[in-house]
Amino acid sequence: MNMLIEERKRQVSFNKNDRAEIQCSIPSIAGSVSQRACVFCGSRVVLYPIADALHVIHGPIGCAAYTWDIRGALSSGEQLHRLSFSTDLRENDVVFGGEKKLYTAVMELCELHNPKAVFIYSTCIIGVIGDDVEAVCRKVNEKLNIPVIPVQAPGFKGTKKDGYKIACEALATLVGTKEAEVPEYSINILGDFNLAGELWILLKYYKEMGIHVHATITGDGRVDKICSAHKVSLNVVQCSGSMMALAKIMKEKYNVPFMKVSYFGIEDMSNALYLVANFFKSEALLSKAKEIVQREFAELTPALKFYKERLNGRKAAIYVGGLFKAISLIKALRLIGVQTVVVGSQTGTADEYEIIGDLCDEGTIIVDDSNPLELAAFVKETGADIFIGGVKERPIAYKLGIGFCDHNHERKEALAGFEGMLNFAKEIYATATSPVWQFVNR
Ligand code: SF4
Repeated sequence: MNMLIEERKRQVSFNKNDRAEIQCSIPSIAGSVSQRACVFCGSRVVLYPIADALHVIHGPIGCAAYTWDIRGALSSGEQLHRLSFSTDLRENDVVFGGEKKLYTAVMELCELHNPKAVFIYSTCIIGVIGDDVEAVCRKVNEKLNIPVIPVQAPGFKGTKKDGYKIACEALATLVGTKEAEVPEYSINILGDFNLAGELWILLKYYKEMGIHVHATITGDGRVDKICSAHKVSLNVVQCSGSMMALAKIMKEKYNVPFMKVSYFGIEDMSNALYLVANFFKSEALLSKAKEIVQREFAELTPALKFYKERLNGRKAAIYVGGLFKAISLIKALRLIGVQTVVVGSQTGTADEYEIIGDLCDEGTIIVDDSNPLELAAFVKETGADIFIGGVKERPIAYKLGIGFCDHNHERKEALAGFEGMLNFAKEIYATATSPVWQFVNR
């Protein structure tokens, strides 16, 4: 791997028996064009699916490019989250301060949209000029009596992962501010963003089991539900990279236990239902979970057989935001005959890389915080013929002339749950076997 920058060599492993612990959770190395987004983006992607809140970006207009369009979280009602607002700071505001502009903008927007809460995101320049955003939040709150929450997330404050933590801390200021009556078997779902309506698939399973889902944080999220989220018996955390901080705060402050699950692939989806049933120590819940799994498994098996027969021997590269999801993806790909030969993430933890190492075949390239040059080289070297990633990996795949499956926040196809597994198999099959690749000169 000649193109690896010297300082990055410990962030890449070739999964041998004697592999060293991969270096991760560190700032990106200078000279490597990281696929990571900034701290602000991390906070924004976590919070913005809350559909009845106003999301105002205090900074230059460029920061506001992270809109609903690049993260298609669906809502069953309110659609306020789909609008993007920015104070559009210019040179004069930078010199003389933007607090007045922010206050005027937020007051006007509240009058127009009547939100349940307001999140005000401070981007890089605010971190530099030092606008007192907290004071503006207090002032609006006094006037309108709704929660107005500062999200101090200048891009230079760390990595995207720090943005997740900042978002969780912002959410924690809401939790516990309202009371609610909830049934005995009540949970919150943390870390599902209702991309392509995935959350609704999960709600269906939980409902069938007899589990009440109180707050969905943040997919199809509502401010009131988040405010009373401390009333449930359990937080079920998916996409643990983004939501673990909130789960830990709620455990410490309200003694709400949490568990990590994944809803991708048959095995992990089934386990998620079993784990929740076991938590409540209820035979009735467990037998309902078994019934759902058996039914779905019986339906899926013949359908997946079709794809497995046609995909057997194909190789996949995976590069995603949080690594927890990749664990499920490797298993799901195996189920349809596809071997993972490259796997990496922007924000994986040492524990997750360890699990990935154990799960993958020898020789699989495992990489933390990669860049386009490395990813292209890894794909070529391993002969991967499908790339699974997000918006920044798509052009790499297409330039190399291989199939691509969007498993990030822009996806329009539900990939979670049992029916999501079938969609995933269909998509992998369609892209890997597309006749278009015969015209590519590799
Ligand atoms: S790095 Fe700073 S300026 Fe760039 S998008 Fe992020 S917050 Fe805005």
